[in-house]
Amino acid sequence: MASHHDRGPRLALAPASHSHAAPREIDYAAVQRASRELLLALGADVDGEALLETPRRMADAYTELLTPQAFRPTTFPNEDGYDELIVARAIPFHSLCMHHLLPFHGVAHVGYLPGERIIGLSKLGRVVELFARDLQIQERLTTQIARWLQRELEPKGVGVVLEAEHMCMSLRGVQKFGATTVTSALHGCVRDDARTRQEFLALTTRTSHDQ
Ligand code: ZN
Repeated sequence: MASHHDRGPRLALAPASHSHAAPREIDYAAVQRASRELLLALGADVDGEALLETPRRMADAYTELLTPQAFRPTTFPNEDGYDELIVARAIPFHSLCMHHLLPFHGVAHVGYLPGERIIGLSKLGRVVELFARDLQIQERLTTQIARWLQRELEPKGVGVVLEAEHMCMSLRGVQKFGATTVTSALHGCVRDDARTRQEFLALTTRTSHDQ
């Protein structure tokens, strides 16, 4: 019969070959044991019925949150010579803050000015997820997405803006509920050309008022 935790050892972090995401393996059984230890240390009744399945659920949750789906980042020749910004706005994402292991979540605006290659719009969301399903800080996540696009597409410019709410800020510490943190990474003419930069930022800063 199937194992009682068939979602468990789904370990492979196998994004496409040319992703430079650091290889990380999840030891599912060890996460379960450590979760039980953590609950014990927190004074929880780990052997009571209510918490019996909790270590397994925690292991499932962390495994899912830290395992990006592999995808093939197919690119196409820019045959029509498209020469304007391509922007995917308000891509929802969530990640885990590496300082507190608490979620942060929000939206990503990802754009580029194509050179010789273009990429399917849906793939921009997959790129965000590829790096978001990791122990992260928002600045690093922003940079990794921008660098990936720069490397894979060699576009004339790249812009990435992330707006996120951090549970470690909302629920503890300074407790600014609903406050968002904005980070950006601009490359090439999105950074250097005033008109392109303006256009990109205008497209991406609209969301907070629209939604
Ligand atoms: Zn944090």
